[in-house]
Amino acid sequence: MERIYNEIIEEYKSKTQKSKTAYDEARVYLTGGETRSIAFYHPYFITIEKAQGPIIYDIDGNEYIDFLGNYTALIHGNAHPAITEAIVKTAALGTVCPTGVADQRELATALATRVPGVGQVRFCNSGTEAIMFAIRIARAASGKDAIIKMDGGYHGTIDIVEYNVQRPVVDGKFEPMAIPDSKGMPKSCNQDIYIAPFNDLEYVEEILKKHKSKICAILVEPMMGVAGIITPLPGYLDGLRKLADKYDVFLIFDEVQSLRLAVGGGQEKYGVIPDITVMGKIIGGGMPIGSFGGRKEIMDVFDSSKPGALSQSGTFNGMRCAMAAGVVAMDMLDQGAIDHLEYLGKKLQDGMDKTISDLILPFSTTRAGSLINLHLVPDPPPDYASSRGALDHLMKLYHIRLMTSGIFSAKRGSFVCSTVMDDSHIDKALEVFKEAMETLKPLT
Ligand code: PLP
Repeated sequence: MERIYNEIIEEYKSKTQKSKTAYDEARVYLTGGETRSIAFYHPYFITIEKAQGPIIYDIDGNEYIDFLGNYTALIHGNAHPAITEAIVKTAALGTVCPTGVADQRELATALATRVPGVGQVRFCNSGTEAIMFAIRIARAASGKDAIIKMDGGYHGTIDIVEYNVQRPVVDGKFEPMAIPDSKGMPKSCNQDIYIAPFNDLEYVEEILKKHKSKICAILVEPMMGVAGIITPLPGYLDGLRKLADKYDVFLIFDEVQSLRLAVGGGQEKYGVIPDITVMGKIIGGGMPIGSFGGRKEIMDVFDSSKPGALSQSGTFNGMRCAMAAGVVAMDMLDQGAIDHLEYLGKKLQDGMDKTISDLILPFSTTRAGSLINLHLVPDPPPDYASSRGALDHLMKLYHIRLMTSGIFSAKRGSFVCSTVMDDSHIDKALEVFKEAMETLKPLT
């Protein structure tokens, strides 16, 4: 492993000398040289010159097909001309306004008319903030504090949910303890969180039976994104809906990643309507955004014209450029675009599965629409614990091997397709995937 890894690292270094210098220089005043922990990989990340459509260009002159899409946010690729035009036009009118603007109303209308569980929405600047407010609604309405979240589920970086996202797994086993993902989180937070394995209804019901007097909501992604595109088994989401009704708790769908699965998001694709929907990423057309919504009577708690309304502040909430970019992005994400994404995603997964089978590798893939994940375990995992295996250490080798052949993807093994891709991008990805699998084979 060490020898093969070093060879690939040497190749990577020889192709990215300017990025190395840029990395060293950036580290002088910018801690770590970048401002998102997830951006780092060994030995250093590339520095991007520009990104257009499905292609990223680094400062060394290398080109990469963008299979990351800024972690699923850029559903129409980079710098889409229609979105860029909307941003530029809107910026000239004022980037952010301290009172009502039509752009907010337009994006709210676009979301409420396409997502079944959303009657009204509010905006903020990130999925993380939107999660915080969604939970606040449930807490305010019920007077209870605790939530149930799924093992491996990522919902942003607030203390109240950053548990069991990347916990270490022993022997593929579930661990019921709430384990903080970071130091510095208050110990008191873990009193308000219960962890369940994804796709296990009985477990959720056990928790509800024992602790219903404390629990206000079940927080779940319709399919788990960061955990590795882990999809719901038939009946799972519907079962959660029934449990939420039975035990009188809110069902919150985090659709920050899954909204791209259908015009009406994961809730339309899987046919289950939550009480509160959290959105982000794609709805801002590449600008910072977060949003949460639900039935009008639920959202009414934020209507400031009413006495006792909850406060939801944020200097940049409803930032005009993000609203305008989001309206164009949502408009372009029609059924035709969703079908195209499904076609690309399926072609990519089928090709990956064929390579895995031809080379007789103990690997598997999972997919939801245009999101595909490689797992270094033999069977497609139904939950986080079973996605972890003894060969996980090979993922970093796989990732850097893709990079050296012009494929930019997440170091966690996912591929994200965008509407501006076509067969040629998938064919190239499959060619490189096959080469990468051949590199890994002797190590399995
Ligand atoms: N929820 C999910 C499912 C996510 O994937 C993410 C980000 O990756 C978030 C919430 C947090 O969103 P943001 O990064 O905009 O705060």
